[in-house]
Amino acid sequence: MNDADAARIAQGLSAMGFQPTHQAERADLVILLTCVVRQSAEDKVVGRLSSLKSLKRQHPHALITVMGCFVDDEQALSARFPYVDAFFKPSDIEGLLQFVRHSLPAAPHYQTHPIAQAVCAYVPISYGCDHHCTYCIVRLRRGKQRSRPLPEIVAEVRSLVQRGVREVTLLGQNVDAYGQDLPPGAPDLADVLLALHEIEGLWRIRFLTSHPADMSLKIIKTVASSSKICPHFELPVQSGDDEILRRMGRRYTVAQYRELVRTIREHIPGCSIATDVIVGFPGESEAQFQATYDLLASLRFDTVHIAKYSPRPGTPATRLPDDVPPEEKERRRALLEKLQIQIATEINAALLGKRVEVLVEKYHRGRWKGRTPTDKLVFFEDTTDRRGQLVTIAITHSGPWSLLGKVV
Ligand code: SF4
Repeated sequence: MNDADAARIAQGLSAMGFQPTHQAERADLVILLTCVVRQSAEDKVVGRLSSLKSLKRQHPHALITVMGCFVDDEQALSARFPYVDAFFKPSDIEGLLQFVRHSLPAAPHYQTHPIAQAVCAYVPISYGCDHHCTYCIVRLRRGKQRSRPLPEIVAEVRSLVQRGVREVTLLGQNVDAYGQDLPPGAPDLADVLLALHEIEGLWRIRFLTSHPADMSLKIIKTVASSSKICPHFELPVQSGDDEILRRMGRRYTVAQYRELVRTIREHIPGCSIATDVIVGFPGESEAQFQATYDLLASLRFDTVHIAKYSPRPGTPATRLPDDVPPEEKERRRALLEKLQIQIATEINAALLGKRVEVLVEKYHRGRWKGRTPTDKLVFFEDTTDRRGQLVTIAITHSGPWSLLGKVV
């Protein structure tokens, strides 16, 4: 979501004549896009804000703004960080651009500086979330779910394709709950996917992140039926224990999750599935952790994002004692990581000698970089300009995180 916001902000600012710089001390405008999903992310925001304080002292004319999930009580934040010129809620891009227009009118010497369009783009199709996961601060900061109207999404994707985009990733906190906040009979995610499938020049469609309780057979069958919709699911499980899932407020059981994975794999053989796991949730016993370990070992996901639980202020889970010690959380995280490296190594090794289709995104450190429909990262060397092309690659090396190959 923050990447999507950043791309939109960059477009808006470049249309006003701004140019990006990587050195904050050279900037007229600094925008900090923030995340507070875990304590470590919030600590990073506070650290970065502290370093911007001296920048403001040296360059008082520079505007410093903060946007994203860090922004809760603006008054309290202004009192705590008086050198910040303005705070904006997550995805309040129009508010930010208006503020900049008002406070920093583009000087006559600024030239409109269009940003080169990437091959892949993020398109938020819904904002906010109607679930009540007890550990989650995101829903408190991003509010209730608001789905964008389908014609607006289609128009945006058409315009991206005209500018050279070949792959879009549809975004939502629960992308598969798209439309549930709209009047009855409104389109759902499957309808969005089918509408985008019709756009000529668009080659690939992805979507993330899916809530297991909102994933429907209609969506699964739609993915199975379209060559453009990538056979990849981001499906956070969070725990392999029913009691922990209940306390997390996740609204599914381990058996239901297993059945969902089975259904997806039955309808879309060869698809890839990524998941998220939290270790050290309050009260998580060794046996409950072991259940998560066993679930990952048996379902063999392509990717697992592992997080150590950290209490987030204002969330219901903070009423439970954070009783798994930090070193034990780290031990559990490391065990899952070791297991997943082994699984991902085996899954990717099965691609050795096979041919895969890669959409080439960019040239990176002497190699071209792209992804397969199943979201595998592939690198290859080639002297021709391959950016934005679909290339068939024969895989010659594999590792847990990426593949290497040669153009066929
Ligand atoms: Fe948070 Fe749960 Fe909503 Fe995801 S589904 S944003 S974890 S409340």
